[in-house]
Amino acid sequence: MAREHVLVVEDEEDIQELIRYNLAKEGYQVAVAASSEAAFRRVKTAPPAVILLDLMLPGMDGLEFCKMLKAEASTRGIPIIMVTAKGEEADVVAGLELGADDYVTKPFSPRILLARLRAVLRREAAEVFDEEAPICIHDLTIHPGRHEVKLKEKAVPLSLTEFRLLQVLARRPGWVMTRQQIVDAMRGPDYPVTERSVDVQVVGLRKKLGAAGDYIETVRGVGYRFKE
Ligand code: CA
Repeated sequence: MAREHVLVVEDEEDIQELIRYNLAKEGYQVAVAASSEAAFRRVKTAPPAVILLDLMLPGMDGLEFCKMLKAEASTRGIPIIMVTAKGEEADVVAGLELGADDYVTKPFSPRILLARLRAVLRREAAEVFDEEAPICIHDLTIHPGRHEVKLKEKAVPLSLTEFRLLQVLARRPGWVMTRQQIVDAMRGPDYPVTERSVDVQVVGLRKKLGAAGDYIETVRGVGYRFKE
C-alpha cells in the first residue's frame, strides 16, 4: 500500500539519496527538490503530506521557504520537518516559531528520521483536541477545567502559571516548543509570563512533580519538550 507523499527539499545529493532510499523502503512516495524554488513549484502542483526541509539551500534558504509556505492558505497546513546541521539552534528556534513542526539534526539515523516523520503525520491526524478534556499521560492526569493535576491518583498542588505550563507542554508530547511559543500559548490577562521566566517556572514545576519532572525535557538551545 502506498503511504504518504513526502517532499524532500535538499541540495546535497548524498543526503537526498539517503533520505529517499530510507523513506521509499518504508513505502512512502518520495519527491525530491534541490531548491526552495523548485520545491515551491512542486508543492503547488502536487501538495505533499509532509515536507522534509534542509535549511541551508542555494537561493532562497529553508527559513524563507518555510515563511512563504506558512503565509499562504493553500500551503499553510503542510507539516514541515526541518533538517539542520549541528550548531543551527537559532535557526531551529526561528523555524519552529515560523510554524515548522519538528526538526532532525544531521547526521541523523534513518530510524530517528522515520520516527519523527510518523510522529508528525500522527499528530496531524489527531490535531483537533478538546481544550477542556483531561490529559492523561504517563502517570499524570491533568484536568484543565478543574485546574487539577494528579500524579498516580495523588493531587499535586501547582500555581496557576505552573499548571498552565504543564498543560501547554503535555498537550503535545514529543513536540519541541520554543520559549516564545510557550509564552504565546500561556499568555492571558492573568499570565504575565516572559521567555526568561519560563525557565524559572520549569524549575519550580519539575521540583513539584518529583520523578515525573523528568517528563519535561530540556532541548538545548531550542526550548522544552514533554516526553512522548
Ligand atoms: Ca544544504
